[in-house]
Amino acid sequence: MRVLVVEDEPALRESLRARLGEKGFSVEVAADGEEGLFAALENPLDVAIIDLGLPKLAGLELIRRARAAAKSYPILVLTARDSWQDKVEGLQAGADDYVAKPFQFEEVLARLQALLRRAGGWATPQLRCGPIVLDTRAQTVSLGGTPVELTTFEYRILEHLMLRAGEVISKAELTERLYDQDFERDSNVIEVLIGRLRRKLDPEDTLQPIETLRGRGYRFALARDAGG
Ligand code: CA
Repeated sequence: MRVLVVEDEPALRESLRARLGEKGFSVEVAADGEEGLFAALENPLDVAIIDLGLPKLAGLELIRRARAAAKSYPILVLTARDSWQDKVEGLQAGADDYVAKPFQFEEVLARLQALLRRAGGWATPQLRCGPIVLDTRAQTVSLGGTPVELTTFEYRILEHLMLRAGEVISKAELTERLYDQDFERDSNVIEVLIGRLRRKLDPEDTLQPIETLRGRGYRFALARDAGG
């Protein structure tokens, strides 16, 4: 998942970058509102964390402009204190949830994961599609109840596909979800990872969980379980 963090306090920004990175996010950071707006408008994102008190352009204005530009990814707002006015204004500007400073990282993470899940239409942290179950909290995957060992990149690809099960995801979008920076990207990497996921999730070649749509991308093809 690709997350943008807009926060002017360097220590906080770097700690969010590091800890979200450890949790498997590809993280982009911006140190002020203008930089943040550019990133919010120009980059493919799954979710954004935006501090309200920012230099150059206020967080509220950044959110309004991103929403006015039809950016629909979920936004989590950081408020300086436990002020109800900040929260109300943030939500009215188009944010989806908020965390008051100081916060525990675990709370930010839990809220981000919940926002991503709901954006994908999932009600619970366990994504169940037939025999394949992906737990977004534990970051584990099982097949018919047996744990499946995945590398970090394999997990990132599968989580992205399963969160949006049924939708076609382009190879370019998957590639962007793998890397933090714009270093040279090899689109063959996605084909290799998809091939490995197929072998691990469908060793008998009976389920065909990941469909290839020539020239368009990939789709997680197993139906979501009822209640998921
Ligand atoms: Ca601030």
